[in-house]
Order: sequence, then C-alpha cells, then structure tokens
Amino acid sequence: MTEPAAASDARTWPAWLDGSLLKLLAMRESLPHALLLRGHRGIGKGWLADRFAQSLLCEAPGPDGSACQRCDACGWYASGNHPDFRRVSPLTEEEGGSRSERARREIKVDQIRALAGFVGIGAHRAGHKLVLIEPAESMNAIAANALLKTLEEPAGDTVFLLVCGNAGALPATVRSRCVPFTVASPPPAQALAWLRQALPGEESMLAQWLALADGAPLRALAFADPAAASAYRLVVLAGDQIPENSVLKTAEGFATTPPTLWVPFLQSWIGDLGRVSAGAAPVRFPAQAPRLRTLGRLTSLPRIGEMAGWLNRQTPILEHPLNARLFAEEVWLRYESMFAAA
Ligand SMILES: [Zn+2]
Repeated sequence: MTEPAAASDARTWPAWLDGSLLKLLAMRESLPHALLLRGHRGIGKGWLADRFAQSLLCEAPGPDGSACQRCDACGWYASGNHPDFRRVSPLTEEEGGSRSERARREIKVDQIRALAGFVGIGAHRAGHKLVLIEPAESMNAIAANALLKTLEEPAGDTVFLLVCGNAGALPATVRSRCVPFTVASPPPAQALAWLRQALPGEESMLAQWLALADGAPLRALAFADPAAASAYRLVVLAGDQIPENSVLKTAEGFATTPPTLWVPFLQSWIGDLGRVSAGAAPVRFPAQAPRLRTLGRLTSLPRIGEMAGWLNRQTPILEHPLNARLFAEEVWLRYESMFAAA
C-alpha cells in the first residue's frame, strides 16, 4: 500500500498543503543546495514536492511563485520530459527492477550514480536543475553514500529535493547536508473532508480508515482499495471470533489473501489491544473498542508484546511465504494462545 503517484492521480489538490507550498515558494530566491521535505507518511509530501518542482522550473510563474501550467517548461514537466529535472524512485517492473529489488523497494546505487552526468553539465534552460528523490529513505546504504559524495561536492545550479516519511531511516550524514522542511499534517476535519470527496459513497468507512492511517488521508485512500478493504474486514472478523471460535476455520479465510495485505491490519489490531490493556483508548480501531476491552481482560501486556514482536519478525517473509495457508494458521494459533489460560 503506497501513496498514489501525483502525476497519475487527478484527485483534488489537498488544501492543507497550501501553507507548506507557499512557504517553499518563498524560499525560491535563496534555495539551499539540498532540501529535505519531511513529515508523516501519507499526507501528500510527494504531491507537494511535485508542485514545488514544477513551480521552480516554470518560466512564467505567478506572483506567489507557483507554476503557470501553460508555459513550455510546465508542459515538459507534466509529460515527464523536462531536461533539467530528474526523478529518482525505486525501480518499477517496467523499468527493469528485478523481483527481489521490487520487493525491497530500494533506490539503488546505480540510480544515484546515473545522476553524475546530469549534475555535471549546465542547465538546458535558464533556471535550476532539480533532482527529486522519493522516498529518500528507500535509498540503500550504498546509494545513500553515493548521494552523500554528490552532496559534498559543489553542484552549481543543481537543487536536490529529498522527500522522506521516516527521516530516522536516512543516514545522519545525508540529513546533515540538507536543510529540513517539515510538511504539516492536516487537521482531522480537513483530512476527513478531503477523503470524502476522494471516496464518494464510502462515508461509513472513512473515519475508520483515517484512524487506521493515523490521520494521514493518502494512506487512508489505500485502505479503500477492494483487496485491502477485504483484508481489513477479515481481520476485524477474526478479532471478533477468536478465541471463542475455531482458529483453523478463521485462518481459512486468509489462505488466499496476501499476508502483505492483512498482517499490517493485525499488527494495528494488536497495537490497540496493547493500548487497551494498558488502560488507554484504541486509536486504530476505535469502533471495536468494546471488543478490544473484552479481549484485553483475557490476556496481558507481556503476552501481547511477545505476539507483536513475533509478528514483526515475520516481515521479511510476508512477500513470499512458503505456504500462505500454513502461515495464516501459525499466526492465528499464536494469536489465540495469547488468550489461553495462564
Ligand atoms: Zn509554467
């Protein structure tokens, strides 16, 4: 479940990004060599970076510095052909990424090294050259190191825009070379309003998906995907039925659902179970609070912590479990054992 790409998504521009965009545009005359756009995952940082990049390359910007959407440069940018712009993201299947590379969703060192020619020559047009790296935390260690070398050398008129939803995952050496810019998260009412226009007819689920996404609307959007929504319902159903009903029957429902879809929901569920057991309110499954409280009385924080830890350690095999049915059975048997009599 990734954020929808800005270019392929015509949904309404999120109003909560306006303030951040204006602040960025105000930096236009004194741009740093490298800018780190950081903020929560799923709040539209990619859209913001895109709009900002287009504005910087636009050759007839408006009074506030925003892109005109009409000049040649804006046209080239929109069609992905601006000669002074490079986008670096994990390789897609079409771009020749191998299966394991795609699974890891890494930006590889070759992609960073390939920038050398671009950085080394002058701009084709009169303005800046831009490199947009998104998500920056998906650079593997070698790629990050190669970027560091590039950032340490004077690169003339090249500006690096790094977009990052987990700044802690970016090497401190790279972070320290960038000027940080924090992208503001939307207020809850604005997030819900935006989600409402993006997902007409799904009103009953919007608040739930937003809660699951920690209030990040673009992440919530991914939960509305039919496969994700079905995995969500399976987990809620299992949470309702276990330990009272047969685990194996419940596990059957998961045999044909990729673990990458349902395990994150279970992790969120177990996280809420931990919160409830510690006397707090659930944050990801607020509508299931009564059920979570019932379950919380049947287990203990150490048992919940053990289950959560075990589940986290399964992350590497989620993409390709040897046997999806056996994996589901093991998960739900372990889940059930949390509630067994001590
Ligand atoms: Zn323009």
